[in-house]
Amino acid sequence: MPMDTTNFPIESLRAESTPFYYYDLHLLDATLDKMKESSSFPGFHIHYAVKANSNPEILKRIAASGIGADTVSLGEIRAAIAAGFPAAKIVFAGVGKTDEEIAAAIEYEIGCFNAESDEEVGVIEEIAKSLGKKAPVALRINPEIDAHTHHYITTGLAENKFGIAMSLMPDVVEHCVNSEWIEFKGFHFHIGSQITDMTPYRILCEKINILQEEYPDLAIPTINVGGGLGIDYDNPEDHPIPDFDEFFNIFKNNLHLRPSQQLHFELGRALVAQCGTLITRVTFVKKGVNKQFVIVDGGMNALLRPALYQAHHKIENITSESEKTEVYDVAGPICESSDVFGENVQLPVTHRGDLIAIRSAGAYGEAMASSYNSRPIPVSKFSR
Ligand code: PLP
Repeated sequence: MPMDTTNFPIESLRAESTPFYYYDLHLLDATLDKMKESSSFPGFHIHYAVKANSNPEILKRIAASGIGADTVSLGEIRAAIAAGFPAAKIVFAGVGKTDEEIAAAIEYEIGCFNAESDEEVGVIEEIAKSLGKKAPVALRINPEIDAHTHHYITTGLAENKFGIAMSLMPDVVEHCVNSEWIEFKGFHFHIGSQITDMTPYRILCEKINILQEEYPDLAIPTINVGGGLGIDYDNPEDHPIPDFDEFFNIFKNNLHLRPSQQLHFELGRALVAQCGTLITRVTFVKKGVNKQFVIVDGGMNALLRPALYQAHHKIENITSESEKTEVYDVAGPICESSDVFGENVQLPVTHRGDLIAIRSAGAYGEAMASSYNSRPIPVSKFSR
């Protein structure tokens, strides 16, 4: 069956050279509006996780919506500032901040460092002292919650490179609160990504409540619960906007915030995934012994997620007019066996030159693109 192409201006896309990312800015705006409406509770503040997509046009749009930015490198801090995010609304996470990055972030007067170890707190303290400026620091705590997602994107379990173990936390808190050069901002958590069952978030709320009870006399201005809200990769047209009401209500109903305490969120994928599509062109339809392969001109160099963590994206032929379907493996041109977007995908009968849309590619798509095999990084196009 030919697909419903109402979302794609097929004729203008056909004329473009491929592969490229196509962003539906109307959907991005609608997603931001809904997110803001659903999170309009006292103390709730949203930061966009820039790592999901740092395309300048997308960043500008998100900055204009008034939310903050969650960054993991000096490059992201600079991109966020260039896009219009105020430095005071930028948080800076990551296990491997360099001295140069820490110094620059202090000079920019960003809102908060999310520190991931006692060693890092020590270095931030030293650099803050040398600059004569106090550094705002929250501690990323590992809450030991299984987010039941792919093991490459589960980050809240006991021992991994992210965060500070619960058992080590008291000493690091002491370090912060006793330091002349650190302003202790609170606790930060991030339990994983592409989380669609809200149970891990409810458990996170319970753990935070217990933690706060254990520190009745400690001033904790901010709790940051990270990001991770998932999207529907199977049916993007049925669920173009994630269920933000369900997500934010979990925190509203289960987390006991102290009076005037701020609750921060760092959403990436949920804000940008559905507005982006990778458009590729069929170079060959190749007949094998038992299979047929659709070979497209953008592969893991353009969209790494399937090769990196077996991610599934809906694949559509947006130009075939055939009423008949066939089953194909859809693969890219890169010289790696993992460069496959989908196996046994049912598509309308497909020909060389057809355009293939890889849906829900707005998050961790363009941001992870590389020039592997010396292929150009895909450009971006926007709905206006
Ligand atoms: N915050 C932190 C610390 C992260 O590591 C990530 C993703 O890796 C995010 C926020 C954003 O996650 P998501 O895109 O799943 O919302």
